[in-house]
Amino acid sequence: MKSQSSVVAAFSLLLFAAGTFAQLPKAPPLPGPDDRYKADFLLIIAHPDDDVLISGYLAKAILDEHKRGAAILCSSGDGGRNEIGQETGAALGQERILESRRALEFLGITNVWYMGGHDTPGQDVLWSLDNWNHGRVLDEIVRLVRLTRPEVIITMLPDYVAGENHDDHQAAGVMATEAFDMAGDPTAFPEQVAAPRDRMQVMNMTEGLQPWQPKKIYYFTDAFDAFSPYWHDKRHESPFRKNFLEGNGPEYSNSLVSPSRHVSYGRLAAEQQSFYLTQGGSIGKEALAKGDVSVFEQPTHFIFGKSLVASSVTGDIFEGVTPGPIPPTRIPGFQQQTHEGLSVEFGDSWGFYRDFWKAHSLEHVAHLLPVPEVAIPRGGALHVPLLIRNDTENPEEVSRTAVLPEGWTEKTGSARYPVRAHEVYPAQLVLIAPDMDGVRWQEITWKAEANGRPVGTIKLRVLSGVGNGGLPQ
Ligand SMILES: [Zn+2]
Repeated sequence: MKSQSSVVAAFSLLLFAAGTFAQLPKAPPLPGPDDRYKADFLLIIAHPDDDVLISGYLAKAILDEHKRGAAILCSSGDGGRNEIGQETGAALGQERILESRRALEFLGITNVWYMGGHDTPGQDVLWSLDNWNHGRVLDEIVRLVRLTRPEVIITMLPDYVAGENHDDHQAAGVMATEAFDMAGDPTAFPEQVAAPRDRMQVMNMTEGLQPWQPKKIYYFTDAFDAFSPYWHDKRHESPFRKNFLEGNGPEYSNSLVSPSRHVSYGRLAAEQQSFYLTQGGSIGKEALAKGDVSVFEQPTHFIFGKSLVASSVTGDIFEGVTPGPIPPTRIPGFQQQTHEGLSVEFGDSWGFYRDFWKAHSLEHVAHLLPVPEVAIPRGGALHVPLLIRNDTENPEEVSRTAVLPEGWTEKTGSARYPVRAHEVYPAQLVLIAPDMDGVRWQEITWKAEANGRPVGTIKLRVLSGVGNGGLPQ
């Protein structure tokens, strides 16, 4: 028990200290985050003009709901075509950046950043991630999420689809998802969230940002299921399943009239698209000249990614969002799958996505297209990566056969694969699509066996004969 005198002594010391502290020089108040960069939503896309796919919704959100938008473009689109001039490559990339600045400004988005990744016209997301330098761009995207502090991230679907299926689009969605799951974590790019030593002096090598956890993430897609001014052909509809966009996220009408602009959101989308003159901007110009913007008035579909606040799948993008920070998300990360015996599955992008969706709590994306799909041009080569696994204790020889629909041929030189114990053999198959008139959906099945016993059967659905949008697969 303390004596009364010792309590009095301690109290006197406290008073003395308080008096002394009050005389100490006071630090200036800490400046808050720069509000000029705060966004309600951050759009993360690959190319100048990807925004066209959702510009009716963007017009509604910004012009009528007064949301603040910001945008990140991972590539300048330097690998694209040029419909109006001779400039291509890097010169085209510079033109497209300006087209995009003007088109986004038309919608009210002026905080726009370009990541400088080269355009990668293809369908394999791993090519784009490599070509862009995945780590460099992800560092930058996480930085910009922390700078713009968006409530919602809107990006492109990280999945392999039958459609334009641009690998850059997929890569933008992959990195946006990674950034969603990293930006609230102070151990991810910690140099960004360390305070500067003295912000009024030069050469601060840490950045003074705060971790930020966005609340929701939504995807849109270049699959042929999504009606677009660039593609809308009934023959592209899969006979094997219904439109996978239905019921998997919010849908917004573009025939509604904007209360502030007194024209339909579709008309605003046509005006916005016509800024992209190198990339089919004539579609918007001609629609406006004819006074028929119906192709822009088709609804905009989003796919619900994930939400850390209470929200329904098909509800509004901002449903459940209230201002202020929330705790960082927890994701499972990579989960090792167990395999037994011999097995066969698709590899490359398909294999990556199987693990990626699980790692980022996006299992429902795996169910959008339970049987993998791809679109290729007439007479085009179809590359099919197979992973043949041997999880037995002995070396095995696995044979595989393909059940090819009419008109298809196979170029692969081998069909029997020696697989050592606990080894995965990556087999690359090459098939040639029918060189015939017409667009057709077909199923191709592969069967694998060893020692006369079945190992597995896998199936791919292929849309062939596609003219526009058939990127090298
Ligand atoms: Zn694009």
